[in-house]
Amino acid sequence: MLTAATTQNVYDVALENFDRAADALDLDSDTREMIKYPERMLTVTVPVRMDDGRLHRFEGYRVQHSSVRGPAKGGIRYHPQVTLDEVKALATWMTWKCAVVNIPFGGAKGGVTCDPKHMSAGELERMTRRYTSAILPIIGPEQDIPAPDVYTNAQTMAWIMDTYSMTKGYPIPGVVTGKPLSLGGSLGRSEATGRGVFYTITCACEHLKMQLPGAAVAVQGFGNAGSVAAQLLHEAGARVVAVSDSTGCVYNSKGLNIPELIHLKTLTGRVAGFPEAEAMDPAELLTLKCDILVPAALESAIDSANAPGVHARIIAEAANGPLTPAADRILNGNETFVIPDILCNAGGVTVSYFEWVQDEQHLFWEAQDVYNRLERVMQTAFRDVLKIHLDRKVPMRLAANMLGIGRVAEAVKLRGVYP
Ligand code: NAD
Repeated sequence: MLTAATTQNVYDVALENFDRAADALDLDSDTREMIKYPERMLTVTVPVRMDDGRLHRFEGYRVQHSSVRGPAKGGIRYHPQVTLDEVKALATWMTWKCAVVNIPFGGAKGGVTCDPKHMSAGELERMTRRYTSAILPIIGPEQDIPAPDVYTNAQTMAWIMDTYSMTKGYPIPGVVTGKPLSLGGSLGRSEATGRGVFYTITCACEHLKMQLPGAAVAVQGFGNAGSVAAQLLHEAGARVVAVSDSTGCVYNSKGLNIPELIHLKTLTGRVAGFPEAEAMDPAELLTLKCDILVPAALESAIDSANAPGVHARIIAEAANGPLTPAADRILNGNETFVIPDILCNAGGVTVSYFEWVQDEQHLFWEAQDVYNRLERVMQTAFRDVLKIHLDRKVPMRLAANMLGIGRVAEAVKLRGVYP
């Protein structure tokens, strides 16, 4: 996938961000060679008998960027624009993200180039099972643990878990996370990303001495990450004044009633038409006068064209890569405080880690236990990134990359080079 404003390949962006952090850390060239590139990349053919009797060949990928600090970990994406380069970039970011929150995982990502919106449940199941059997030699609870990503969900994970378990001959729930609760999923997993976003915003407000109650918030994207973050911000007394999804945008200067908006979205699949709100141009949401902006939709939402108009004091990157590098440079020049994606949205992978731990122990935790542990992890990671930001006087994104890459570098130096 190309970033809109720069037409820069996302994997090139990932490599550029690595180089910048490695330079700031003064990493030696041997260490860079050891941790910069993916350890393993698998491209597979996925033949599927479609409902009309045709055989269709899909292409799938699984990239393991790093297993230096633990098993590789990362989602599986079904999307027409999935490419090997996109999967490599996302796998690389997973490595640094897991290291930022200091969980014992490396990074991975998978994907199948397909259009899931135009496939039946049966076609999706057959594709998932065949893709699973194709990547089966390199996944497993101690090796590489997939999870949901764009257009994959708990049902997809259930099919992967079943295919893997049937092949091995016994149930192995720890092979995937983001599973249904009845198959060994964790309480709190579905809302973990939005909850983690909320915790990092709370930390940022504290740092900036900003009051969260009464603060004006705009949220782009009202799916899993965006709607949970909006709900928790609303409960904490913030005014969520604007919300958009792919079908429209609603605005109320006094604050939207978020529980009712979630109810409408669940019923109709859209936020448009919400009573007690005005319709707004979705593009305007990003440049709205507000205190906190939460981009929770797609990559490259804020680019060099709209970045100069962004007024928010805090940008909380719930989405992966919502700011292009050019937008980053513009916003670094003003007073905007960016909570970078590999910190802000790391709540999802953190609770995936909790799920894996529970599966491995066959012992399950209460929801409040999950929330408390997640809050501690997110607060610690925020504090660690902030310290580098303040001590080294570098932007928060560079500080987060320095923390993650520095931890992986330390681990690889201790392990040394095999043989
Ligand atoms: P989702 O599919 O549940 O929701 C996406 C939302 O974005 C939908 O409401 C959709 O209508 C909206 N959207 C799409 N295009 C839009 C546009 N142009 N303008 C406004 N809204 C638009 O997805 P999600 O799981 O909430 O993921 C959102 C982002 O968060 C992605 O970048 C994803 O990679 C990232 N993320 C999610 C998780 C997670 O656990 N869900 C974890 C880490 C990162």
